[in-house]
Amino acid sequence: MDQLIKCMSHVDMVKISVIESTELVEEARKIHGLNPTPTAALGRLLTMGVLMGTMMKNETDKLTLQILGDGPAHQLLVSANQQGHVKGYISDPFAEAPLKENGKLNVSGIIGKGSLNVIQDVGLKEPYVGNVPLQTSEIAEDFAYYYAVSEQIPTAVALGVLVNPDGSVKKAGGYLIQIMPDTPEQIIALIENRIKEAPSMTEMLEKNMTLSEIACYISDDLATYQVEEMKPKYQCDCSKERMKEAIMSIGKQDLMELAEDEVTEIQCHFCNKKYQFSKSEILEMLQ
Ligand SMILES: [Zn+2]
Repeated sequence: MDQLIKCMSHVDMVKISVIESTELVEEARKIHGLNPTPTAALGRLLTMGVLMGTMMKNETDKLTLQILGDGPAHQLLVSANQQGHVKGYISDPFAEAPLKENGKLNVSGIIGKGSLNVIQDVGLKEPYVGNVPLQTSEIAEDFAYYYAVSEQIPTAVALGVLVNPDGSVKKAGGYLIQIMPDTPEQIIALIENRIKEAPSMTEMLEKNMTLSEIACYISDDLATYQVEEMKPKYQCDCSKERMKEAIMSIGKQDLMELAEDEVTEIQCHFCNKKYQFSKSEILEMLQ
């Protein structure tokens, strides 16, 4: 079952979030009919969305993660809230690239070179926007780089999606570790070593390690104090009202073109639900 836990060391030096996201990544795969490599790519970004989203302060805060690359996947977009709800899409659900030399799905091969954008809407006039060039395009390293550059917090990120031979999701999960300022060098070195030695996130999940066991393991038993437990899930919050707002934002010229059709059908990018607007509804929006 999907779950997220947040742990801390007793002296507040080390913060860890660990997540199993198998079900929500499988849900995304089914909704979008994803091929294996897009499942891994979008699955990693969705998992990151939950890890970061649940770190936001306020209930109404919204997080958008966007990867724009020159590979066949083109764009990946994930939207997450503070309650662990996440949704996302990839431009090409069928994008594929040859397997890597180690036999793994070639996520960087379908993303290519490009940029990572992090948009945090915390209810201010303008959202907070962070932007870094992609480093490896394997996603976890790109976020570690993002934290180092734009937030100056030493952060380790692991994200993993293991796909069954039939294309379904076997295991998915990840973790995020942050070291607070003034943490002794010794402790940083201990954790760095642990992360290097640790099996991959999906291997640990496959061994049936619990999330708290994983948190203890990767923090060398430092972060053993569990702060919070959450149930993440794939959830789309679209509605006819929201679709209407989206249509109205396209501008008068485009609206006039839509008004020429008897029925305008709009599909939600995140859950593929279809919404229909009649000619008279479009005309009403024009006024
Ligand atoms: Zn939707």
